[in-house]
Amino acid sequence: MARFLVVLVLLIAACGASSDAARMVGDSTAAATTTTVTSTAATTTTTTTMPAAEGVVISPPGGLELYEFAGDKPFATLHEGIAMGVQFRSGDWLEVTDPCSNPAWILGSDVDLIPRAEPAPAGPGFDLSNAVIVLDPGHGGRDWGAVGSTGMRESQLNSDIAERARALLLAGNDINFTTGEVTSGMGYRGVEAVFLTRDPDGPEGGDFEAGLAYRAEVGNRSGADVFVSIHNNSVPQVDVELPGTEVYYSVASTESRRLAAILYEEMLLSLSQFDVDWQGGRIKGARSRVDSETGEDYYGLLRRAETPAAIVEGAYLTNPEEEALMATDAFRIAYSEALYRGIVRFLTTTDPGSGINQPERFVDDAGTASTSSCQIPIQP
Ligand SMILES: [Zn+2]
Repeated sequence: MARFLVVLVLLIAACGASSDAARMVGDSTAAATTTTVTSTAATTTTTTTMPAAEGVVISPPGGLELYEFAGDKPFATLHEGIAMGVQFRSGDWLEVTDPCSNPAWILGSDVDLIPRAEPAPAGPGFDLSNAVIVLDPGHGGRDWGAVGSTGMRESQLNSDIAERARALLLAGNDINFTTGEVTSGMGYRGVEAVFLTRDPDGPEGGDFEAGLAYRAEVGNRSGADVFVSIHNNSVPQVDVELPGTEVYYSVASTESRRLAAILYEEMLLSLSQFDVDWQGGRIKGARSRVDSETGEDYYGLLRRAETPAAIVEGAYLTNPEEEALMATDAFRIAYSEALYRGIVRFLTTTDPGSGINQPERFVDDAGTASTSSCQIPIQP
């Protein structure tokens, strides 16, 4: 019986995903999907209203109990203010991917499920007020990312830029794409929703450890129109004329490549205003790294993304001149405005962008960091 129920739920979930052309986020009927199930064996047609099975939840004030198995005892109370992708519903229970990238169950009655949106194709006529954006500040918690000579942590810098970009995306603005100027106005409407994978409402102001699958699931299960991971770079110390920005795209997605190429142009426009002795790597612009053995995207975030995604490496934190610039509001505003303009341009035009490099075969000699020691952020 239990197995039959699970199969039924799966069938209905699949139908709902394919037949619901209308946007669900922000709709007054968002909490429920109406699904018509037609039996071919009989001639009857039944209409059932089912709660959404996929989407995003944010752990509520006071925290959220996580369960290893539906109906079991909770193993942890997750800290409030953390967004998680929901991949499955079984009755009252929702299966999520927790911040350590592990599957966990929660009670549907403990949260407000924001149902998965149905992305519309980018281009002229795209309605920004229906858009769902996921911003992913890189690193966090014990993973500081790049560290500058004065001790500035990339993880905290990335968070600040993400928060600024979210504020721009949610507001109405006018954009001068020639100068890059962004001012409050009615030219471009605010988007429907922006989810941060490390939300400032979460533990330590959003400075917590977050796994790659966790991050990707927030993007995939929200039905995001765009997923942008925000980083700053380290190591290469070659003097370059222009900012050494790199934006990584997925080798499997032409829209990801277009997003990266547009973001690169906007980053260049924003950062070129600063008179700094920039450093960079051998290759800048829109790049893609392919695993030499598998031929797939080297970066796990891009490999997992089901939505147009890009990883932005803005500037070099290990260059003391750039680190000093990164400490200023002016840099952080410029970076966030570049992300904002890039996302708006990607969604509302068919511009190809520029600065695209061919995919590079990549072997990681250093190996990948283990997340096996990841700790779930607990509600105090
Ligand atoms: Zn980084």
